[in-house]
Amino acid sequence: MTLNSPLSSDRSRAQVRDELPKIAIVGRGFTGIVTAIALLKGITRPFHLVMFDPRPKIDVSEGLRHSATTLLNSRVRDLSVDPAVKEDFRLWLEGEDFWRQDPAAVDLDDAFVPGEVFSDYVYQRFSAALSGRTDVVVQMCPRGVTAVDKHPSGGISVFFGSEENLRFDAVFLATGFGLGERTDVTSAPRPVQNAIVAGGGVRAVNRALKLLTDGEATHVTLISSSRFLPQPHTRAAAGSRTPDGPLPATLLGAFRSLRAAANLAEVEGTGWQGIMNGFRLRAHDLWQGLSPEERSRFKRHLRPIYESHHRNRLPPEHHQRLHAAISEGAITVRKAKVERIATNGVLISTLTGFEVLPADLTIDCRFRSTDIDSPVLRSTILAGLARRDELDVGIVVDRSGRATGAQGFQGLFAMGPLGLGSLPDIDMVPVIVKQTCAAASSLDAWLDAVPEERATTQRSSTRSATG
Ligand SMILES: Cc1cc2nc3c(=O)[nH]c(=O)nc-3n(C[C@H](O)[C@H](O)[C@H](O)COP(=O)(O)OP(=O)(O)OC[C@H]3O[C@@H](n4cnc5c(N)ncnc54)[C@H](O)[C@@H]3O)c2cc1C
Repeated sequence: MTLNSPLSSDRSRAQVRDELPKIAIVGRGFTGIVTAIALLKGITRPFHLVMFDPRPKIDVSEGLRHSATTLLNSRVRDLSVDPAVKEDFRLWLEGEDFWRQDPAAVDLDDAFVPGEVFSDYVYQRFSAALSGRTDVVVQMCPRGVTAVDKHPSGGISVFFGSEENLRFDAVFLATGFGLGERTDVTSAPRPVQNAIVAGGGVRAVNRALKLLTDGEATHVTLISSSRFLPQPHTRAAAGSRTPDGPLPATLLGAFRSLRAAANLAEVEGTGWQGIMNGFRLRAHDLWQGLSPEERSRFKRHLRPIYESHHRNRLPPEHHQRLHAAISEGAITVRKAKVERIATNGVLISTLTGFEVLPADLTIDCRFRSTDIDSPVLRSTILAGLARRDELDVGIVVDRSGRATGAQGFQGLFAMGPLGLGSLPDIDMVPVIVKQTCAAASSLDAWLDAVPEERATTQRSSTRSATG
């Protein structure tokens, strides 16, 4: 493990460290890092934090190079990692030389920036939060967590490696979309004549455009199960508009009302995007009011359309480039279900039957599901620390990410996309940031409430376990 705190370099302080509340974060992607920032800012007492991840990476840029062709799909104004300072990302950008030299750097709040720039910002904010807390011990462990379980004397055991485990007072699961494997490995010489990108969302469109721009492919087939392609953001940022009257409490009613309000906004020239932004502020309440059958209907039929068509939007210049590439014949869109991806092509099914599409290069950008079937999440459920949600996409959580498991809250949090079955939009940057702050204050209060008696038993057992 790498120790990151001055406390750890002093042998006599090792004892003090054992007395501290122990917190684990499993996963050091975007969610794990902002959780750490929130804990460093929000937990008032000294504590000992261990962050596990064998492949830490903020995946909002997903290997995209720093260029104008690879922009994030959220505006600068929506990407602050400090909920108390909404303009924090803009202020950070204004201090960066590369941005100051950019003649297009006007209206910074409304701009779209490359994912790598955002990653730099998040890491810098993490390092600033860390340097502000010399009373906190932070350890980075480059290991994959294999299981979690209840510790016999209270708290949670985190298992990694073959037999190793540590006891923690609280554990934050931030494993998002899992350890992830690349599917786009091919030895075909570039540019390939025939590339396939499976998926019809913003990720798929970004990859298709990048293949063409980088000269990696001369033609790309996009395979979308709904045939819908992402819509554009407005040029100037759209605000939030709420349709008159309350939103109907049924799924069908809500969608009809939204469609009507969006059509009206288009006619009035104010754009449907503001209506969708307004809807997202109310989505949590609508979701909570739906019956289990309606939620599962949403997952089966409407989610792919909502995800790719309305929720995630393309920067206007990307949208233009996509449609230009389609009209020039550089991108072909097929409506089909991808049944199987092989090294030399893809098996698809359409209304008329099965078909094999040969390809020199295939990239899988379909809607990613969360890591719910991984050994670590399965073990939390088996241990009674957490419960699967009824949609089977994640873990049942409250707004702060607390896993309200079969036996109540026991110190386990499932952060970010792991809560997608309980909280709409919890895979989006602003919503994750808010959740991590709520989690930090909830944990702070909970640590106060853990009886001193239990804490003493736990600490003495930790000492004997870690030697
Ligand atoms: C290309 C792209 C662009 C995006 N653009 C935007 C945007 O513009 N605006 C927006 O709001 N959102 C955007 N998002 C979505 C949002 O950023 C994601 O929801 C978020 O990145 C999810 O982060 P995460 O850390 O929860 O999950 P992940 O990124 O999947 O990270 C999970 C981490 O956990 C680790 N891990 C997994 N299993 C284990 C284990 N057993 N033990 C230890 N570690 C483990 C993995 O190695 C990984 O590092 C984008 C996402 C992508 C992919």
